[in-house]
Amino acid sequence: MTTSRFASLNLSADFLGNLDSLGYREMTAIQAAALPDALDGRDLIAQAKTGSGKTATFGIPILHKLNPRFFGIQALVLCPTRELADQVANELRRLARHIDNVKIVTLCGGVPMGPQIGSLEHGAHIVVGTPGRIQDHLYRETLDLSRISTLVLDEADRMVDMGFVDDITRIVRACPRFRQTLLFSATYPDSIRKIASPFLRSPLEIKVESQH
Ligand code: ADP
Ligand code: MG
Repeated sequence: MTTSRFASLNLSADFLGNLDSLGYREMTAIQAAALPDALDGRDLIAQAKTGSGKTATFGIPILHKLNPRFFGIQALVLCPTRELADQVANELRRLARHIDNVKIVTLCGGVPMGPQIGSLEHGAHIVVGTPGRIQDHLYRETLDLSRISTLVLDEADRMVDMGFVDDITRIVRACPRFRQTLLFSATYPDSIRKIASPFLRSPLEIKVESQH
């Protein structure tokens, strides 16, 4: 099963070395199905359960494209809750250990805006946050999404259930038209398909039944 090893992907030796040091050797089912196309820049709709390795499925394409010398936001990851946003940011920091000076900022509600604005002013490469707070920053013009190349909707079904559709729509409008969009959901009912389809461009659709 050599094709499911991370080493089969077109990643730098440093990146592969870091994945190896994290214990990432064999790809999970969703990673093996999605990463070759996602690394080529293709949009993705992936339906998979918790614990299937979704963070690396979007984190690896984000970090593969990232230019650490450009201090502008290059990727936005939307999550339903602060806990999930913190988990994603921590996992992205581990996946990015081989790159110097990558700045990953979390923007979630329930905390003051001031320090968040301060970290944005210092320059962020990747923003992870909840739709309400991201929309607040856009409204106050403290967040510039005009240069992002990757947009991730993580746990999209939960974000829709929590009433974030209008926020997400406004956020997507603030992103460039030419971008890669990666959508993850535990379920994929028609209601989500309808909401999601305008955001994606001929996406690869993947459904993973089991965990690995
Ligand atoms: P999900 O978002 O699908 O719930 P995560 O991305 O949080 O799943 O991954 C679950 C756990 O599995 C994390 O601890 C992560 O570090 C680990 N993991 C993910 N992919 C791999 C892999 N290919 N090899 C080893 N561990 C992995
Ligand atoms: Mg997850």
